[in-house]
Amino acid sequence: MSNKRDYYEILGVDKNASSAEIKKAYRKMAVKYHPDKNPGDDEAEQKFKEAAEAYEVLSNPDKKAKYDRFGHSAFDGSSGFGGGGMDMDDIFSQFGDIFGGGGFGGFGGFGGGQSQRRRTAKGGNLRIRVKLNLHDVANGVEKKIKVSRKKQASDTTYKTCTTCNGTGQVTRVTNTILGQMQTASTCGTCQGSGKIIDKKGKGTDAYGLKMEEETVSIKIPAGVEDGMQMKVSGKGNEAPGGVAGDLIVLIEVDEQSGELQRDGENLHYDLYINFSEAALGASKEINTVSGKVRIKIEPGVQSGKILRLRGKGLPRLNSYGSGDLLVHVNVWTPQELSKEQRQFFEKNISDTNMQPNPQKSDKSFFEKVKDMFS
Ligand SMILES: [Zn+2]
Repeated sequence: MSNKRDYYEILGVDKNASSAEIKKAYRKMAVKYHPDKNPGDDEAEQKFKEAAEAYEVLSNPDKKAKYDRFGHSAFDGSSGFGGGGMDMDDIFSQFGDIFGGGGFGGFGGFGGGQSQRRRTAKGGNLRIRVKLNLHDVANGVEKKIKVSRKKQASDTTYKTCTTCNGTGQVTRVTNTILGQMQTASTCGTCQGSGKIIDKKGKGTDAYGLKMEEETVSIKIPAGVEDGMQMKVSGKGNEAPGGVAGDLIVLIEVDEQSGELQRDGENLHYDLYINFSEAALGASKEINTVSGKVRIKIEPGVQSGKILRLRGKGLPRLNSYGSGDLLVHVNVWTPQELSKEQRQFFEKNISDTNMQPNPQKSDKSFFEKVKDMFS
C-alpha cells in the first residue's frame, strides 16, 4: 500500500472542488514552494513535487476519476509516476497551462525554474503513419518500421561550451511578481546541452548529427482506432549531448475488411443466403477477426434479420471485454430461373404458405436500424 498523502489534502481542497478551484489551489502551492523561492530547502522542494503530482492527477478527468475510485493504488506500477514521483522537467512543463503565457518558461520570473538544474537539450520528434487492418486491431500487432532519424555520429567529438561553461544555462537577475529572482535560461550557444562541437564527423550536419535509417519496433495494443497517436519515447532525432526526441505514431485503420465493417467496438457482417436456405434453414461459416465461426440460420429466417454474436467484435482499448459481431442476413433472390424452378414458383405464387405474414416479432427494417443506433 501507498503511504502517500491524499491528493485533495495536499492541495487543501475538498473532494467536490471544481477544476478551477483545483488549479487555483495548485497555483498557490507552486508559488509558495517554488525552488527558486526556496533555494536549498529540501522540504519545500518535496512539497513542491507533491503538489505537482497531486495536480497532475486531479487536473486530468480520467486520472481523477481513477483516483477517486481506487486511491493511490490506481497509479501503482505502470502509470508513469506511480513510484518515484514526478521529475522537475515534468513539473515545469505543466506551467504553461497553469501560469498562462507561451508554454514552457512563459511565466516571467520562473524562466522554467532551472536555476539549479540543467535542462538537457532534447532532439526533435519524428512522425510516422502506420496502417492497420481490422485483424491488427483485434489482436494487437507489433510493427517493424524503418525510420530515418538524426543520430550522433561516432566520429563527432564535443567539448565544453565556453558561453555557459558546460552548465547549459545562462543566469540573470530579473524582477518578477515574486520579487527579485535569479533566473536561468537555456544557453543559446549550445542549446542547453553544455557542449559544443569540437570535431565535426564526416557527413554530419551543423550539430554533428547524421541521418541514419533504423528499424523501430512498435507494439500497438488491440482496440486502437483510426486517428489515435502513440508515442515511442526516445526514437525521434537525437540531440547533440542531450536526449533523443520521441517518435509519434499516427494510427490509420482500414475500417473495412472483406465482409466486415467496423462500427466502434462492434463489427457488421453482411451474410447472403439463398431462397432455399432461408426456407429450410442453414449452417453458415463466417470469417471473424478471431477466426472462423459457424452460425445456425433458422428455417423461415427473414431477410434483414440481425444475429448478434456477443464478444466477437473488437476488444476495448485499455479495458476488458469486446464488442459484438452483428450478422445481417440478406436473402438473395435468384436472377435467373430454370424451367423447373419457374414452374415451382408459378405453382406456389398463390399458396397460403407463400403469403407475407409479418409477425409483431418481425421488426421492420426501419425499426431494426433504429435499434442498432440506440
Ligand atoms: Zn552553452
